Amino acid sequence: MSKYLERVLEATKAKNANEPEFLQTVEEVLTSLAPVIEAHPEYEKVALLERMVEPERVIEFRVTWMDDNGQWQVNRGYRVQYNGAIGPYKGGLRFQSNVNLSMIKFLGFEQTFKDALTTLPIGGAKGGSDFDPAGKSDAEVMRFCQAFMTELYRHIGPDVDVPAGDMGVGAREVGYLYGQYRRIVGAFKNGVITGKGLPFGGSLIRPEATGYGAVYYLNEVLKHENDSIEGKRIAISGFGNVAWGIVKKVAELGGKVVTLSGPDGYIYDADGLVTEEKIDYMLEMRNSGRNKVQDYADKFGVPFFAGEKPWGLGSDKVDIIMPSAMQNDVHLDSAKKIAASGIKYYIEVANMPTTNDALEFLKEQKHMIIAPSKAVNAGGVAVSALEMSQNSERLVWEAEEVDAKLKSIMKNIHDSSAAAAERYGLGYDLVAGANIAGFQKVADAMMAQGVF
Ligand code: GLU
Repeated sequence: MSKYLERVLEATKAKNANEPEFLQTVEEVLTSLAPVIEAHPEYEKVALLERMVEPERVIEFRVTWMDDNGQWQVNRGYRVQYNGAIGPYKGGLRFQSNVNLSMIKFLGFEQTFKDALTTLPIGGAKGGSDFDPAGKSDAEVMRFCQAFMTELYRHIGPDVDVPAGDMGVGAREVGYLYGQYRRIVGAFKNGVITGKGLPFGGSLIRPEATGYGAVYYLNEVLKHENDSIEGKRIAISGFGNVAWGIVKKVAELGGKVVTLSGPDGYIYDADGLVTEEKIDYMLEMRNSGRNKVQDYADKFGVPFFAGEKPWGLGSDKVDIIMPSAMQNDVHLDSAKKIAASGIKYYIEVANMPTTNDALEFLKEQKHMIIAPSKAVNAGGVAVSALEMSQNSERLVWEAEEVDAKLKSIMKNIHDSSAAAAERYGLGYDLVAGANIAGFQKVADAMMAQGVF
């Protein structure tokens, strides 16, 4: 590692000592950029890395709303506008009780490179609140969203910053957020937020996009290995929107997802989630707000493993692993089990689902192929960017058109990551390749625009 890179890493650690998740992603990304920084001594003079790790803007605000008992409640809202060098800031909003600045900064930093990888003109941002919609009434969620947007609206716009959903922010929340924005600005500027409902500027395929995109990316990996998805058994975690998209596309392509997980444990369905009934039941489970995956085991009579994660299954049961739930879902002990199982494909889907030591360990396994989330899950934000295009054209594209674009974007992300790693003599290293390809685009744009 070059002296410059080391110095920036140390300084970032010292400056953000109380932000562990943020430091985790900075360390992961910067470490894999070592050969690029070595090849570009001109970056040091203009403090490119120092500027890249520092968000352009952090907005933190109070959100006051009234609950159903007439009691006023106060939450904290965030928007981190990380890097706008290649387009309007773009990234989701997460509503979950554990949201804090470290989490939003980690997600915003990742988003910057992810958005660059899509090849579409979008910068990186993330936002959210420590408000948890689970267990709240519809009216409470609406009042919260209205209060949140009443502060956020002055910082966003179709050419400025375009939020979307993330965990805890689905179609319902996006609808309330947009409604309040429209009410405040007095104009139908629906390009200000994506993931909207179809009647007011949503894009076909957006709900499926992250999951579909992940499977399209997986397909490119399998192709590279002269392999195919036909008959493959896939273990995933989570059972939300992303998991649903994966399950649907995998079933369509002749593979089968055999696990789902929730905060309560995981289910194992040897027949796979391949029927319409099972796939539709995922939506029901999510909409129930119970947040329990055991419901699936009870309904379909399959085994449920309380308090466990689906990472202990052997290669007699599973061919591909796709962690799709949340950050730091796979720790070193799970990574060791996965490596020992002989399973070849480890395809990250959720943002930073693997701890850094676990990721390092998995990358050392010669029999395994590891794909990073910032590439694999980029289909969601890519279709969001296509939603922005449709909004500015005041048109709605057909599902086939959006899907075809999504597929080619995912292929491109895979190929450009593979090529970037190859260029630096790293072989088929999709993790380093994604970091390098994303970084290079943002770096080029920043270098061209002068120092500020
Ligand atoms: N939250 C999703 C992501 O992290 C979607 C963001 C978007 O569509 O802007 O990529």
